[in-house]
Amino acid sequence: MSSLIQVDEARKQYGSGGAAVEALAGVSFSIDEGDFVSIMGRSGCGKSTLLSLMAGHDDPTSGRILIEGRDLAGMRERDRSALRLDTIGFVYQGFNLLPRLTVEQNLSWRLEWMGLPAREVRLRTSETLERVGVPKAAWRRYPAVLSGGEQQRVATARALVTGPRLLLADEPTGNLDTKTGTRVLDLLREINIENNMAVVLVTHSKFAAMYGRRTIQLEDGRITMDIESELPLRYGEVVTLQR
Ligand code: ADP
Ligand code: MG
Repeated sequence: MSSLIQVDEARKQYGSGGAAVEALAGVSFSIDEGDFVSIMGRSGCGKSTLLSLMAGHDDPTSGRILIEGRDLAGMRERDRSALRLDTIGFVYQGFNLLPRLTVEQNLSWRLEWMGLPAREVRLRTSETLERVGVPKAAWRRYPAVLSGGEQQRVATARALVTGPRLLLADEPTGNLDTKTGTRVLDLLREINIENNMAVVLVTHSKFAAMYGRRTIQLEDGRITMDIESELPLRYGEVVTLQR
């Protein structure tokens, strides 16, 4: 059986000549169905680059990204988009909500694009917004008028609404206060366990990283550590915040 996603000697260089930056210097690991992996490392070490390769938003300079054994590089753009929509949910570092769409529309266009009937689109959209805790009063509003915490929840809901098997989240709690951040992390863990959704969580918070059952440390574009967490938190366990 192939892994859900396999990163094979992925290298990424931006620019060329004297201005070239090697963001990833050859990174390999794989992630199975239902895994929860935290990726940690200093700012600039290549975390966002790695996620964007895994999501097929960008291509590696060399190396391969396989999703269920299929090489992203060999795919036509249409197939790649379809695969992304089918399999992957992405929570961007800066939310990336579409400013001209309401909260509801930020979710529903993805389902419409998948060809779901209107009734199903409405149902799934409202279920997901409720589950993530976006207040109903915000559903018809535009992202710009929401607080940072609300925008983060909408961004999370948008990633989850299609029922992805792999969630890639780039510092999803970076802009949130501790309480709101913990809610988002608890929700990811809940869906990880209930729906067997694999989660890759990029974070530089040690607290957030504890949600992973495995932690990968990146330094200057290289993996320097890949360990099963010593003290994995279990679903429902009470956590005392120490920050
Ligand atoms: P992290 O998410 O860990 O902060 P990034 O993946 O964003 O790191 O960046 C890794 C390195 O690549 C940094 O040196 C960054 O400046 C550089 N970089 C990232 N994106 C680009 C880009 N589009 N063009 C040029 N350099 C980039
Ligand atoms: Mg980043």
